[in-house]
Amino acid sequence: MTVQQIDRDQLRALASGATPGPWSYPGEILGLPCSTVFAGDPKRTHAAYVAAMGPHDGAFIAAARTAVPALLDMLDQAEQRIRDLTQEVQDERGACLDQIEQVQARDARIKAVRELHSPSDEQVIMGDCAAEECDHQEIEDCPTEPFTVCAECYRAAIELNPYYGEQGVDDVAWPCPTIHALDGEQ
Ligand SMILES: [Zn+2]
Ligand SMILES: [Zn+2]
Repeated sequence: MTVQQIDRDQLRALASGATPGPWSYPGEILGLPCSTVFAGDPKRTHAAYVAAMGPHDGAFIAAARTAVPALLDMLDQAEQRIRDLTQEVQDERGACLDQIEQVQARDARIKAVRELHSPSDEQVIMGDCAAEECDHQEIEDCPTEPFTVCAECYRAAIELNPYYGEQGVDDVAWPCPTIHALDGEQ
């Protein structure tokens, strides 16, 4: 319990113990000056006199009867609102952190796919040689050219067909369809 809370509880107890409001301070009655604060009787027929005071003090005391409990309620509500908002911010922060974690996990998976389907520079036979329409006697005689293939697609193609590549490697050129798909291209 904070010091503020203790003071507030005391104020509340004081307000609860006092004659119920509203109180009034007419200042004058029947044209005659009246310096009395009237508590608990709007008609002032048998008013509980709180005090006789100067005009400003009397008006303040009369107003305080209803203002103090109202202010205490407003303070409680404001504090509750702050607690609610703080909780909302914490919840939203938690949700954001979860999303960041998900995005990071997704990025890591995309990175792994990109590393798999990475460019690999190979020396390959091209054109007529690849189509076996050249005049070279042996395939070893065919000239090679540098060509960038997708490492993973090329590996998979050779695994399916050990002679893959002898007829050209255009289908496994990098960037491959997987990389195009990751980049949002057709
Ligand atoms: Zn050739
Ligand atoms: Zn690929």
